[in-house]
Amino acid sequence: MARQMTDSHRRFLQTMMSNGVMESSKANALCLHFCRDQSVPAQLDEFIGVINAELQPMFMHIRKGMCEDDGHQYYALVNMAETDITRMSSDYADNELELFRKTMDLIVDSERGRASSTDILNCADRLQTKKMKKKEVENLLDRLVQDKWLNEKRGEYTLSTRCIIEMEPYIRNIYQDLVKPCAICHSLAFQSQTCENCGVRIHLPCAAKFFKNNTDPRCPSCKDYWPHEIPVFQFQTLSQSASSRASTAPASTASRTRRK
Ligand code: ZN
Repeated sequence: MARQMTDSHRRFLQTMMSNGVMESSKANALCLHFCRDQSVPAQLDEFIGVINAELQPMFMHIRKGMCEDDGHQYYALVNMAETDITRMSSDYADNELELFRKTMDLIVDSERGRASSTDILNCADRLQTKKMKKKEVENLLDRLVQDKWLNEKRGEYTLSTRCIIEMEPYIRNIYQDLVKPCAICHSLAFQSQTCENCGVRIHLPCAAKFFKNNTDPRCPSCKDYWPHEIPVFQFQTLSQSASSRASTAPASTASRTRRK
């Protein structure tokens, strides 16, 4: 059977290009929609495989990854040729890119994978390229959120799903041992819980699934007691996810009391 690009694949790719990143339930619905005239319904992974084969000579790739905020799977169109931040240089000035790098530093260094707007503002005074005023920083952060490089919640910034999927090779290269993979899904973990004994990290949504209904949660690596409050996620169905994504925030994970 020929596995060639059809108009269905092309339409899917065009939607992907204008969105940049797409939730898997939406990608699945689109795939079914574009293939509705075909006798055999397309499987999403196979469908994307055909597109990826076509994209390869152009160093592009549709890659899957998890959103750290809601635990859903997303697809992102990734540029394999330029995995560095410099690829953003057509959209951002040098000092803006320097501040974005510093924001990434703050997020990677933080325990919870977040940087506060105050901490980011403080970095703006120490930029080597050109200092930025408060208003300029605020505008930049808004743009980075709009362009889907960062997410913002109550004045705190996290790396977006797009950023993590696209920049993973760059992040692993620059930060090396400072970034760790999730012990459950093996993708890089930023917003996560850390084993106080061996340092293993687990994404909040992965912890919610892994420790669900577990009365004696233990580290999957060293078997030490897992001292964190187990987050609760509502892994929604396709029809619910688009309308109420904002409400999928995990329950408080602030509790750090260790049970002896
Ligand atoms: Zn994970």
